[in-house]
Amino acid sequence: MEEQKLITRLQEAIEHAKTSTFYQKHLLQKHIETLEDFKNIPFLTKDELRNHSPFGLLAVRKEKLVQYHESSGTTGEPISIWYSEQDLQNIVNRTNETAVFFSKNDTMIVRFPYAMSIIAHTMQDTGKSNKTCIIPADSRTSITPMTRIIELLRKCETTILSCMSLHAIMLAEVAINQGLDPKVDFPHLRAICTAGEPITSYRRNLIKDIWGVPIFDNYGMTETGTIMVDCMYHHLHPALDDFYIEVLEDDFKTSTKQGEIGNLVITTLNKSATPMIRYKTGDTVKVQEELCQCGKQIYEIHGRKELLWKVKGRQFDIWDLEGMISPLSSRKFWAAGTRDHVLYVVIERENTSDYVDCHYLDLLRDQYGIEIKIYIVEKGALYDRQEPLSFGMKGKPKYILTQHELDYILNSID
Ligand SMILES: [Zn+2]
Repeated sequence: MEEQKLITRLQEAIEHAKTSTFYQKHLLQKHIETLEDFKNIPFLTKDELRNHSPFGLLAVRKEKLVQYHESSGTTGEPISIWYSEQDLQNIVNRTNETAVFFSKNDTMIVRFPYAMSIIAHTMQDTGKSNKTCIIPADSRTSITPMTRIIELLRKCETTILSCMSLHAIMLAEVAINQGLDPKVDFPHLRAICTAGEPITSYRRNLIKDIWGVPIFDNYGMTETGTIMVDCMYHHLHPALDDFYIEVLEDDFKTSTKQGEIGNLVITTLNKSATPMIRYKTGDTVKVQEELCQCGKQIYEIHGRKELLWKVKGRQFDIWDLEGMISPLSSRKFWAAGTRDHVLYVVIERENTSDYVDCHYLDLLRDQYGIEIKIYIVEKGALYDRQEPLSFGMKGKPKYILTQHELDYILNSID
C-alpha cells in the first residue's frame, strides 16, 4: 500500500477505535500525520484487553454484533472478542486467499475446537462460502475420537482435513495402527489445512511425506481471525489490506532487519467490533530476505515468545529444534528441556532400530557451540496413546519440558 493511503487508513482505524470506552482514554489527543507519528501510539497489551473485557474495546453498537469469542491464553482470565457480520465476512475473504481453493467438490473435516476459539468457525464459514461440504468434528469432545476421524475421512470420501499440524501426525499414527497406509488408503484426500500452532518447513515436509498431500497453513488468532495464509508456493503472506504489521526488536522501538526474528505487533485496519491498535500479539516472526515466487514477502511464524530454550546466552526456538531432529528417523513427537547448560531433546521412538549417531551430536555441538543431547524414548513417554482424542495433548502442544519432567524422563532412561 502506498504510504499516504496507509496513513489515511491508520488515521481512520484510530478514529474508529476511539468510539470504544477504552480507546477514548487510551488514545485521547492522539493523532498521526506520518508513519513516524504512528510509532508514538501506545501499544495494546493482552492485559489491557483482559482488564477491559467484555465491553471496553467494543466500538460498534451491540445490535451490530453477531459472534462472540474468548481467548483464554495461559493466564486464565479470558479476553472478550466481538465480531460484526462484516468482520466475519472479511475473515472469510482473507481465508479464501489460501491456495487450497475450496470448492463445491470438496468435503472438509474441521478438526478444531468449536467452543470459544474462532478457527473452527473460520474454516467452516470459508468452506461453506465455496459450497464445500463441512464435517464438524470438534477436537475436544469424546464424540469424535481419532478413530472416528479416520472413519470419516474414508467413508465420506473427505478431500480436505483441517487440523493442528501435530494432530495430522497423530491421526496418521492411528491410521497406521489400523493397518492403513495414509498415502494409499485415503485416495480422496487432496490437502491438509493447518492452523493453531506455528508450522516449520521441516514439519510441513514431514506431514507431506506421511500423507502424500500438500499442506496449507493459516496464521491468525481468536483476537483477529485469519491474518496470513499460504500461497500456492506454501509460504505465509499477511493480508496487508486488513492489517498494518510491525516486527520489532525486544525494545519494541526498533524495526527488525529482514531475516531477523522479531515481535509481531498488529493494527487492524477494518475490524469494526473490537479494533486493535498496535496489539502486542506475543508471537515472534521472521520476514525472509528473499521474496516468494509469487512476489510477496514471506513471513515465518516462530511462535510464542515463551516458546524458547535458553542455553549459555543462546536462544533456540521451534525452528532450531525441528531443524536438529529433521535428519533423524524418529522425528514426529518431541519435547526439549535444559539443565546445567545442556540442551536435552527427547523424541519418541518410531522404529526399534532408531538411534542417534554420536557423530551427529558432535556436529550439532560444533554448529551451536553448546552441548546437545538427544534421547530416543519409548512411544508414550511424551504423548499418552490411551487417550483417544489427542494422545493426552491438552489444548496446545507442549514442547518445553519443565525441570521436573526432564528429570523424570532422564531418570527413567538411566
Ligand atoms: Zn507466495
